[in-house]
Amino acid sequence: MPRLRRLLAIVVVLAAALVGAAAAAPTPAAAWQALEPGQLPVELDLAPAKAFPVAGPVHYGQFAASFGGGRGHDGQDVFADCGTPVVALQAGEVVDNKYDGAGGNYLVVATASGRAHVYMHLRTPARPPIGASVQAGERLGAVGDTGDAWDCHLHLEVWTAPGWFRGGHPVDPLPLLRRLQG
Ligand SMILES: [Zn+2]
Repeated sequence: MPRLRRLLAIVVVLAAALVGAAAAAPTPAAAWQALEPGQLPVELDLAPAKAFPVAGPVHYGQFAASFGGGRGHDGQDVFADCGTPVVALQAGEVVDNKYDGAGGNYLVVATASGRAHVYMHLRTPARPPIGASVQAGERLGAVGDTGDAWDCHLHLEVWTAPGWFRGGHPVDPLPLLRRLQG
């Protein structure tokens, strides 16, 4: 029965196409983890509420102060007057709040999707302690020049899941910053 065989062949092809489509559609988390450094597509924003992280006039660092910077610079420098409030880009949990010679006073916030936002060179130790929940727009501290910084700026890093030095990798925050700045 050639007709039945042809029908069967069509069914098999359709089933294969469906399986292929299902396999080709990654979950948002898997898609996020598969990103190459420097990519930050809007469609993978899992938590929409976001705030521009510096509450005042800014200018973006270029060249060595941009992402990569020809020196493995893992963030974008956002220059602002010393003391300008730094607020949380997105809600999450504080997973690190320390000082070191490079980052100065710095804070790491893990978001619900497992990304990490890193805020560095804060003027004084950041307000929320490790374990605290922060909301988008909540004040974290102030722009400073602590650590290895030549001028007051926020050094902002965005890491994919599972986060900062936990297997994630840094992505360029600048497209997101420009979008938030409107
Ligand atoms: Zn920097």
